[in-house]
Amino acid sequence: MITAIIPHDYEWANDLSRRSRTDLIIVHHTASSPDITVEDIHALHLRNKWSGIGYHLVIYPDGSVHQGRPLDTMGAQCEGYNNRSIGVNLTGNFEYDQPTQEQFDALVLLLSDLMRQYNIPPEQVTGHNVWNATACPGANLDALLPDIVAAAVRA
Ligand SMILES: [Zn+2]
Repeated sequence: MITAIIPHDYEWANDLSRRSRTDLIIVHHTASSPDITVEDIHALHLRNKWSGIGYHLVIYPDGSVHQGRPLDTMGAQCEGYNNRSIGVNLTGNFEYDQPTQEQFDALVLLLSDLMRQYNIPPEQVTGHNVWNATACPGANLDALLPDIVAAAVRA
């Protein structure tokens, strides 16, 4: 199945560049209220002096999937790995909370689509904490990731 991705228009502070390759998918949380929107994230990341929202895809608590940076461009989401990765973010703070069932299900289908589209093996779908010193994507989502990736392989 191909996930429906809700488009958003952004004003980028700089021209976005393309990635050299795509062999990692990196899962994040916002470490914030689950009600944060892609527009909020865009504004926050502009304040960091980035080009704009750093993630490629953002999943809300209702399971809707929102476009951030265009999929073929370099994100600002995993230091040292942006030139080879797609960043997927679930809104919420999963150090304390659990993703909603809708977020869980949407992430399974989205990862399944992306793994097929880019021919990415399951071991290269990881939490942000594998690559950078961070608690992201939060202990609770981190604990669910093996099941989520296994379900994505079967989806
Ligand atoms: Zn992260």
